[in-house]
Amino acid sequence: MTVRVRFAPSPTGYLHVGGLRSAIFNYLFARHYGGKFILRIEDTDRKRFVADSLADILSSFRWMALDWDEGPEVGGSYGPYLQSQRLPIYQEYTQKLIDSGHAYHCYCTPERMETLRQEQMRLKQNPGYDRHCRNLSAAERQTAIAQGVIPVVRLKAPLEGVTVFHDALRGEIITENQTLDDLVLMKSDGYPTYHLANVIDDHLMQITHVLRADEWIPSTPRHVLLYQAFGWEMPVFAHLSLILDPNGKGKMSKRKTVDASSGQEHFVQVREFRQAGYLPEAMLNYLTLLGWSYNDKTEIMSREEFIASFDLKGIKASPAAFSYDKLNWMNGIYIRELPAAELARHLIPFLEQAGIKPTDDITTWPTLLAIIPLVRERLKTLAEAPALVDFFFQEIGLPDPESLQGKLTPAETRLILEQTRSILATLPEFTATATEEALRDMAGQLGKKPGVIFTPVRVAVTGKTVAPPLFGSLEILGRQRVDERLARAIAQFEMPC
Ligand code: GLU
Repeated sequence: MTVRVRFAPSPTGYLHVGGLRSAIFNYLFARHYGGKFILRIEDTDRKRFVADSLADILSSFRWMALDWDEGPEVGGSYGPYLQSQRLPIYQEYTQKLIDSGHAYHCYCTPERMETLRQEQMRLKQNPGYDRHCRNLSAAERQTAIAQGVIPVVRLKAPLEGVTVFHDALRGEIITENQTLDDLVLMKSDGYPTYHLANVIDDHLMQITHVLRADEWIPSTPRHVLLYQAFGWEMPVFAHLSLILDPNGKGKMSKRKTVDASSGQEHFVQVREFRQAGYLPEAMLNYLTLLGWSYNDKTEIMSREEFIASFDLKGIKASPAAFSYDKLNWMNGIYIRELPAAELARHLIPFLEQAGIKPTDDITTWPTLLAIIPLVRERLKTLAEAPALVDFFFQEIGLPDPESLQGKLTPAETRLILEQTRSILATLPEFTATATEEALRDMAGQLGKKPGVIFTPVRVAVTGKTVAPPLFGSLEILGRQRVDERLARAIAQFEMPC
């Protein structure tokens, strides 16, 4: 048997990180067993359709390098892979269910359904269809047709007994049939409901395993009834646990929030993580271990290692809370592991977006390669880079006297800056080692701690109180620019004569 799994998103919004995790699990499962990973777009709910959501899903998949074997853009022998292009298939199979007595036309108008709902609420009954059209007489049907009502098609669900299915992670799940109503299979607009299209496609696309979020568990008994009505074999079901909010209390939010205590943004859409400068391999590592475990200890695993070991046994049945701190930590590890040229390639779009361009005077991108060893350790995300390195590429604003001074007096600050300027101007070699040695000597002579001396110099040349290592920065900036910036800072302390 060839494993065939699918990720079947509904294009109703931008891809959520929870959806991405389900997709990763399917992808790893397929790769582990040498099977096929299929991307199917479930776009039959026209009311909830969002036009650029498909493009978002595809570009998120490409970014994550989740290469799908069949689906939009790549094709495959079980297509089309957009459900909106498969309507005749659903109509054909709906007819089969009607012919075999498993489904029926329902002519109830939206007005009748609304009245029914009101009545059920008044009587404190469970809402649901009352099966009014299940046993219409031929005459009643004729009347409805004559009135021009366009019917929906409903499943004739069993009225008694139980529906059972086995979940590979959760064991047997049993549902009383009297809790299942006659669900709509085909809507009056000619589009199938999710349930019908999902089951028909899983069957026709020969899906062997359905790995999907556990929010679909209540739908699965309905799907089982459909498999039974068609007389089809069922795939293996494995419902994946929820991802919880960082506090572990509720389901992960659908929208970005901002953590009140840390001010940290809690992203939820894949595109938000991408824009914030997370690396796809870090996302893959983090999300896979959020719900699957190799040995409960290993935290850093490569795509190849996941593929080699991913199976259903490692999937955790209990929900896991999303930790932004842990993801940041992991992303930092992946950033540090990248070769400098590769990291530079990742950083350039972020720098450009922040308005830093290679033509911005001063230096060009090769400088970035020299800067990387200075900043790599400090980056948790790529988006943090521009604020750290902008002073290498752009002129800095006039540093304000207070930050220049730190704990020093204006007179001391001015003296230190002037001495630094003259010492650096005459150094035989303008290297990190030489400037460091010179400034440490100067501190000794002034009887000050080196750190105290470095503050005004740092602020003068970088414009920041917190910046990459000072002497490496001086070397990259070069003697002339350092001299100009020191001169501008000194001018802040000119005494009126
Ligand atoms: N279209 C459903 C969704 O948006 C698919 C659920 C399933 O995998 O069956 O999640």
